[in-house]
Amino acid sequence: MAQKNTQTRWLGSDGYYQIKLTCGTIVAEHRILWEEAHGPIPDGFQIHHKSHNRTDNRIENLDCVDTVTHKRLHVGHRLIDGVWVKTCTQCGVEQPENDFPTKRYVEGVRMTRGNCRECERERQRAKNGHTGDRFTDGSPIFGRHFGPRSS
Ligand SMILES: [Zn+2]
Ligand SMILES: [Zn+2]
Repeated sequence: MAQKNTQTRWLGSDGYYQIKLTCGTIVAEHRILWEEAHGPIPDGFQIHHKSHNRTDNRIENLDCVDTVTHKRLHVGHRLIDGVWVKTCTQCGVEQPENDFPTKRYVEGVRMTRGNCRECERERQRAKNGHTGDRFTDGSPIFGRHFGPRSS
C-alpha cells in the first residue's frame, strides 16, 4: 500500500483533494484513505462520497461502488434495501425505478424515463388530445379497432 505524504495536499480543479505520495505519484486523497481502511480498491470500482460533498473525506462518508452504481448514485438514484428508487422529474415523487416507463435499451440494459408512469400517462393523454388521435368523424380509434363489427 502506498505511503501518504501529508505535507502535500491540495484541492484539485475537479473538486477532490489530491495528495502527493512519497514516491511522487499524485492520487486522490479519498482513494488512499479508503484503501488504508479497507485494502486495495477492486478493479472497476470507484470511491463515492455518500454526502455528495467531494471534500468530505471522512472514512464513513466514503463508499466503494462499481462504476454503474456510481453513475446511478450521481443522477439522483438511491439504493434502498436492494431496490433502486429515483425521483420523478415531473411530480417529484420518489418511487422504485422498476415503476418508471422504459425509454430505450442500451446493450440490453433498460433505461427508464425521467418521469414516472403516471406522469407519462398524463403526458401521452395531453399529446393525443392535441393531435386528435381519432377518426375523421370524431370517434376514438380505440373503439373502432376493438369494438363489435358492423355487418
Ligand atoms: Zn461519487
Ligand atoms: Zn411523476
